[in-house]
Amino acid sequence: MEALQVAMEPTPKTYWLETYGCQMNFAESNSLELDLLHHGYLPAQFPEEASVVIINTCSVRTTAENRIRGRLGYFRSMKRSRKVTVVLTGCMAQRLIDQELQEQGVDVIIGTNGKQHVVSLLAGENSQDLVTYEFSRTHHKPGDLRAFVPIMNGCNNFCSYCIVPYVRGREVSRSPQEIFDEISFLDDTGVKEITLLGQNVNSYAYRRGDASLGFTDLLDGIARRVSSVQWIRFLSSHPKDISPAIGELMLEHRSICRHIHIPIQHGSNSVLKRMNRKYTREHFLGILASLREQVPGITFSSDILIGFPGETEQDVELTLSAMREARFNDAFTYYFNPREGTEAAGYSGQLDDDTKLSRLKCIIAEQKAISLLEKQRRIGTIELVLVEDRAKKQHDEKLARTEHDDMVVIASSAALEIGAMVPVRLNSLSGNTLKGELASCGK
Ligand code: SF4
Repeated sequence: MEALQVAMEPTPKTYWLETYGCQMNFAESNSLELDLLHHGYLPAQFPEEASVVIINTCSVRTTAENRIRGRLGYFRSMKRSRKVTVVLTGCMAQRLIDQELQEQGVDVIIGTNGKQHVVSLLAGENSQDLVTYEFSRTHHKPGDLRAFVPIMNGCNNFCSYCIVPYVRGREVSRSPQEIFDEISFLDDTGVKEITLLGQNVNSYAYRRGDASLGFTDLLDGIARRVSSVQWIRFLSSHPKDISPAIGELMLEHRSICRHIHIPIQHGSNSVLKRMNRKYTREHFLGILASLREQVPGITFSSDILIGFPGETEQDVELTLSAMREARFNDAFTYYFNPREGTEAAGYSGQLDDDTKLSRLKCIIAEQKAISLLEKQRRIGTIELVLVEDRAKKQHDEKLARTEHDDMVVIASSAALEIGAMVPVRLNSLSGNTLKGELASCGK
């Protein structure tokens, strides 16, 4: 019994970090982890041996919050038998700061603006959350080929269903010098792919005195600076803000991936209006058509939100037809969940879960068919891919990624180095995964 109690005592200065939600949260967790390591903390192998448990939360959907509440329940029961500090940060922490979470065994709650101060809070140095968001200097996990680089935070758009402007606040653009410095560091350490992050990257606008820098100038500056970095991605793009200059930059710099994640959310203008998206279906499809004309081979992925209050069967049909016209490579599909504090939570015409689920199934099936067709179209072509990993089962196969963000299994590639950029002939599809073989560029 005594031995068990000893085993259950935490190892001093060890942490367990769980991250939920978007890439921005993962980037911020990377930077928090670097800070913990820098201050002498070590990663625990299991939450049960950590002296500090940190949960970087997401608030975008009720399901995410419910999962986190479940984990909090587990850590609360863990606290009955051993000493552990539980830190809750991120969007859910911001939303519920000062509310019932304190009763759930959370020792420290810190919102989105104070994430990078977790370590000083643990040292008891500062208990104040910050008023404005501060960007960390680096967000990269040493050794990773890919890195996320936040360029802006927050959102000014107030889509009627979205909690982001309330939990991440208004838009703040990071200084271009800080962004260039982080990217130069990544380039020097051999990173091959960077993704510029923001809730709405196209509205990046850094002002100092009379001078200002927008997203396309920033992207151009980054593409001119990198040498080791082969691919530059960015997300998310808002359809109302995306500029045609993006297409010109893709033609000028081959390092900018010819793939854009651009959320349509819905295909019916009346629903888009109630969502407060500030564009029409025609505008959205027009952007895709002109970018396709301008940039050979460009592809798109999207987010689709179905089951919005007041949505009719005809609205669903309009969404399906917009999807067929947009031909997204891939789409993240989800159904409407009222978020407390947002406008749409109070809209009339809320749909029941069965209706929302059956409409979502329809959307998923349609996207599956479109994704398959779009991939089949590329069979027989040669594409450059970035080799990311060994295949789990077949040791003579490697896993790689195309610029369009799909995974490819490369046959007979045992000699290929991780991090290599190679041309691959796409031969077949297995389920959703492309299969290919090494090709020479001229083949
Ligand atoms: S653009 Fe709309 S959906 Fe996207 S983060 Fe801003 S408010 Fe939310």
